[in-house]
Amino acid sequence: MSAQIIPVQPFDLVVFGGTGDLALRKLLPALYHRDADGQLPEDARVIAVSRQALDDDSYRAKVAAALATYISASETVENTTNRFLARLHHVTLDVKGDAGWQELKKTFAGRDDRVRVFYLATAPDLFGAVAKRVGEENLITPLTRLVLEKPIGKDLASARAINDLVGSVFPERQIFRIDHYLGKETVQNLMALRFANSLFEPMWNHSLIDHVQITVAETVGVESRAAYYNTSGALRDMVQNHLLQLVCLVAMEPPSAMDADAVRDEKLKVLKSLKVMKPADVLRNGVRGQYKAGAVNGVAVPGFAEEVGSPTATETFVALKAEVENWRWAGVPFYLRTGKRMPHRVSEIVIQFRAIPHSAFGPDAGTIEPNRLVLRLQPDEGVQLQLMSKDPGPGGMRLKPTPLNLSFADAFKVRWPEAYERLLLDVVRGNATLFMRRDEVEAAWSWAEPLLAAWEQSAEPVRFYNAGSWGPAESAILLARDGRAWADPTT
Ligand code: NAP
Repeated sequence: MSAQIIPVQPFDLVVFGGTGDLALRKLLPALYHRDADGQLPEDARVIAVSRQALDDDSYRAKVAAALATYISASETVENTTNRFLARLHHVTLDVKGDAGWQELKKTFAGRDDRVRVFYLATAPDLFGAVAKRVGEENLITPLTRLVLEKPIGKDLASARAINDLVGSVFPERQIFRIDHYLGKETVQNLMALRFANSLFEPMWNHSLIDHVQITVAETVGVESRAAYYNTSGALRDMVQNHLLQLVCLVAMEPPSAMDADAVRDEKLKVLKSLKVMKPADVLRNGVRGQYKAGAVNGVAVPGFAEEVGSPTATETFVALKAEVENWRWAGVPFYLRTGKRMPHRVSEIVIQFRAIPHSAFGPDAGTIEPNRLVLRLQPDEGVQLQLMSKDPGPGGMRLKPTPLNLSFADAFKVRWPEAYERLLLDVVRGNATLFMRRDEVEAAWSWAEPLLAAWEQSAEPVRFYNAGSWGPAESAILLARDGRAWADPTT
């Protein structure tokens, strides 16, 4: 059981792309867990849409197989599974065609008083077509919400085009752009840590913080997504959205309230304060890498180019030095790195405090390391504060860094919910706090675009790294140049 169950209004959730990987691996298991916890109203329904000729029963069989794959047997209960499967329906419909829309429309008969969610778990080039058609079919009620999966475009122009298209049908308050990182418990805990405690906020600025590091490392490669990934790369796939959202939560000013616009206004100010890099800055402050064949956790894996089938300049690793140009953060670098085929799967934010101004301890005491606050987003979610302490024992005063650990799993004996569980129900509630507003997405692209352009135009090659390493040597050099080093992830 999760800690506290607050029921939501009755809803119909229409998943365009209901047979896809995202729906079967993430969305439906997330809804199953909410159902198991008793949070779904009795007649809440999920209507999957795809081009496959499936009736309700064959779609339910497909989902039953997916639940068996993605939820452990110890977490499933037969009664819940039967109740959950009975909520599912399938409508065969090609978004680009005319057939099927009337059948979809019929499923809403007499249900206009319920929350209606259109979740677009399809490629973004279908977003505009779906939005336009649900508008033309008069399927939009005051309680309708439209959910857009990432990526919202591949650059500023394509993001604007998508936003214009969906915005011509839905008002902004009915549009929910998902960045599932924002639904992670620990990411929200960052806001709790900062704004529900008086301890850290007075020191959360350039006078006491030396720099910030954000690492999002994956052990996986691109697997079956090589063709898609080769058109995207790590900057578009991870930095422009997830990592920038984390920068926003670390750097934002305290919002006046935890409501959607107050929080998003503050995040937008951070995005707009990010120093836009000129081509020469990009080459100096950015590193792009690509994995070669190697071994991750002792298992041999091919290189990215082999997975794509030909040499390619697409980056599977990015390290950057970003700067937030405002009063609070002037002179405090934000070092960001993300990569595939890294040695560990880990997402961490490291707040590195400044060194003490003077040491009263002699040389025998050892090096006094600056304090460090580490927010572990995954795995083993928690917070670690690194303090200097006395090495126990008689004799001289020897000092050593000692971690003060708070593991959320130990502190809260509850099942740790997946981000989509929270986000899906926030959509039903109409709470957009953890979703990106149009201006945020476009500000993030405005910052990312010069990097993409500089790399595309540069003669400097992508740097190779062995799968199973922490990226190319240039990543370490980026920090070493400033007299700093990447923190060892606290795995
Ligand atoms: P996928 O496995 O290829 O699924 C695509 C879904 O869209 C299928 O259900 C497909 O159904 C449906 N579809 C495609 N064309 C259609 C059409 N013309 N009319 C109606 N339905 C159509 O892709 P995915 O991995 O689930 O990803 C979906 C979107 O979410 C992508 O934009 C992806 O970038 C994004 N995303 C995915 C993940 C993830 O973990 N998978 C995470 C974050 C974001 P039929 O082919 O059966 O018609």
